[in-house]
Amino acid sequence: MLYEISLNTASKNCYRDITGNVESIIHSSGIKDGICLVFVPHTTAAVTVNEGYDESVMEDLLNYLSYLIPKHPKHVIFKHEEGNSDAHIKAALIGNSLALPISEGKLILGKWQRVMFLEFDGPRNRKVIVKVLGK
Ligand code: ZN
Repeated sequence: MLYEISLNTASKNCYRDITGNVESIIHSSGIKDGICLVFVPHTTAAVTVNEGYDESVMEDLLNYLSYLIPKHPKHVIFKHEEGNSDAHIKAALIGNSLALPISEGKLILGKWQRVMFLEFDGPRNRKVIVKVLGK
């Protein structure tokens, strides 16, 4: 079964901790041992696993990506007419899917790890597709 998480993002670059949503889906699925696929069906948003304990970590990640990939870089002329190539590049670098382990009905993450949705071209309505596989 395919599950969907809906999100409204509030700014151009922001993140949302979706760990609780993913854990609820795993619980609903009844799968005890397997894999949880988390997929972002957008070209200017991404998903990653990173620290959720100290909020500055994700803020630093977003700020550093914007420093590396400015909307109007000095030495590159973007051809994409929509004007959001910076967001496409950030999304491509971070990636749009995760395969996460499930054991004894629980999502396995490291002590400080959380599942993070990253927005690079908000505010927008977004969705995340979750597929739980196993037994
Ligand atoms: Zn675009």
